[in-house]
Amino acid sequence: MRKETKCIQAGYTPSNGDPRMIPIIQSTTFKYDTGEAMGKLFDLEADGYFYTRLQNPTNDMVAAKICALEGGTAGMLTSSGQAANFFSVFNIASAGDHVISSSSIYGGTYNLFHVTMRKMGVEFTFVDPDCSDEELEAAFKPNTKAVFGETLANPAMIVFDIERYAKAAHAHGVPLIVDNTFATPINCRPIEWGADIVTHSTTKYLDGHDATVGGAIVDGGHFDWMAHADKFPGLCTPDDSYHGITYAEKFGMGGAFITKATAQLMRDFGSTPSPMNSFLLNLGLESLACRMPVHVSNAQKVAEFLEQDERVTWVNYPGLASNKYHALAEKYMPDGTCGVVSFGLKGGRAAAESFMSHLKLAMIATHVADAHTCVLHPASTTHRQMSDEELVAAGVGPDLIRLSVGIENAEDILEDIKQALDSLE
Ligand SMILES: *Cc1c(COP(=O)(O)O)cnc(C)c1O
Repeated sequence: MRKETKCIQAGYTPSNGDPRMIPIIQSTTFKYDTGEAMGKLFDLEADGYFYTRLQNPTNDMVAAKICALEGGTAGMLTSSGQAANFFSVFNIASAGDHVISSSSIYGGTYNLFHVTMRKMGVEFTFVDPDCSDEELEAAFKPNTKAVFGETLANPAMIVFDIERYAKAAHAHGVPLIVDNTFATPINCRPIEWGADIVTHSTTKYLDGHDATVGGAIVDGGHFDWMAHADKFPGLCTPDDSYHGITYAEKFGMGGAFITKATAQLMRDFGSTPSPMNSFLLNLGLESLACRMPVHVSNAQKVAEFLEQDERVTWVNYPGLASNKYHALAEKYMPDGTCGVVSFGLKGGRAAAESFMSHLKLAMIATHVADAHTCVLHPASTTHRQMSDEELVAAGVGPDLIRLSVGIENAEDILEDIKQALDSLE
């Protein structure tokens, strides 16, 4: 199946008389005829469901669709993108371990790594995604367990050189984890470039309608845990909390990572999505392949318009030929990147605030990456506790306007931007 077909068909094939649509199995628990039959499930000796905190059929069917789109071997849903990124790292790195992360990542992920996981004893080194090979090499330590980056960094829109980072990670016997939220598997499939684990905030384009918060993890199935068994005892030695199972032996390269994340982390942290939310996520996925090209073409028109307007001081969109990351974007995302464009206006912070207050169609919202065009001025909202100097250091200058271009008619979006710019004078 090609990606457009997978959006519709993957993850669920109804049998004779079954519902055509992925059914919502809104049940906490599942019934068995004998205790013995249920015991086999607890021992991971048989496939089946017993309690929705660990696994639920609706969630699994939707996870299987995302897994198929990414070209992976196993997948799971989580209740948020935060939970997905936390699980993806904590599944293989715990107290005393070290992880290398791109410094240009979503702010919530940076906090998770830099503050919360640090409190849990996991140490992080943040590297500039454009650092030299020597700098990257120097970041590795004997206790490094993973490398992490975002295909398209939110909000800096830096394109992560997946192939380069995968090679470096593999040379040190550790996997590369890539957050593919902004590109989506329609525009980039990191596993094809060497990534081992792919994560998503499905809250963004995968849902695409501002309806549900959620996350996903997909295993590419190419990383040989057993070949680096000393680094990954959690996967390669018996799990006493799970009946002595050795995940990498029993479930192999294709299944060990997701089985462990489900059996241990989901069991203990309970970051389970509601089946109803997964049903809504699936509705979004069905139209993903239709929506992404519209986001890309609308954003391209907006970026090109802004670039030639004299009231605009700078525009950041990898689809522009003038963009620093244009060549990398063409390599990893030949069909385009996403709908998020950032820019600054002459008149800086004050002009940004005035411009936004005059927008009529583009609404002010913290959200990004969905069907509705929305806009955010980080300096006066999400980053308002920072001084102008701190904002510049964080790559989110006081003039930065983040515009998430939706799938309305491009002319309507452009007219809205034009009238808001005209009202500045
Ligand atoms: C939003 C976002 C997250 C966090 O996802 P939630 O669903 O809000 O928990 C993680 N990574 C990226 C790139 C994001 O844009």
